[in-house]
Amino acid sequence: MTGTLHVVGLGPGDGAMMTPDAQAAIARATALYGYAPYLDRLALAPGQRAIASDNREELDRAREALGTAAAGEAVCMVSGGDPGVFAMASAVCEAIESDAPRWDGIELVVVPGLTAMLAVAARAGAPLGNDFCAISLSDNLKPWTVIEARLRAAAGAGFAMAFYNPISKARPWQLGSAFNILREILDSEIPVVFGRAAGRPDAAMRIVSLGEARPEMADMATCVIVGAPTTRIITRAGQPPLVYTPRFVRDDG
Ligand code: SAH
Repeated sequence: MTGTLHVVGLGPGDGAMMTPDAQAAIARATALYGYAPYLDRLALAPGQRAIASDNREELDRAREALGTAAAGEAVCMVSGGDPGVFAMASAVCEAIESDAPRWDGIELVVVPGLTAMLAVAARAGAPLGNDFCAISLSDNLKPWTVIEARLRAAAGAGFAMAFYNPISKARPWQLGSAFNILREILDSEIPVVFGRAAGRPDAAMRIVSLGEARPEMADMATCVIVGAPTTRIITRAGQPPLVYTPRFVRDDG
């Protein structure tokens, strides 16, 4: 049994931020797997078919894609942003590991994409210009106690933070709780960027202070960036404000 499975990042938006490598992998595929809203972004050619699945069926989707690749088809598994950031590349590795050695004949090619936090950071200025971390606030796959410990550790260490999966109908309170934890540790003047649907026509940005940050400012298409203690806002006449984190950190910083 041989074959190749491409796991491809579409970038955050509608195409302009998709890499040529990702476009080429998609153009060659006959079977494309993924979460329906991501597949909907693709204009499929005749001979290409999309197999959509729900957001919570990642492991089954990974196994089905591996099976189709083993049957000799050119298969792409697509993710929004980068496939390795809270996305399908891990689910595919998990399937390969748990079914071992069943998929040993399948070559896995992960094609990177522009992850949401980078698109949001670029629109704001340079909030991730010094050390930072990315945290998914979803407690579907890890306990909230772990998330809370990581928030405290990251805030205590002076990292800027990008929050993925900040809020949803099923997870309404986690983001507010995260802001409350951070307000215990960090200065309330630290800038917070709410970047929604970056790279899409309905993109929106909002910049507030940590003291003003509220969960209703985000939805599930939002990536929230909380600045580091050194992050600042530059206001300029006639231009949007710039949020940036300097490259230097003093000894006491
Ligand atoms: N693999 C994706 C992340 C998947 S997790 C990536 O690398 O970007 C889904 C979360 O990503 C969303 O809840 C949101 O926090 C963030 N996200 C995805 N696309 C986004 C976009 N265009 N603008 C802002 N945030 C986005």
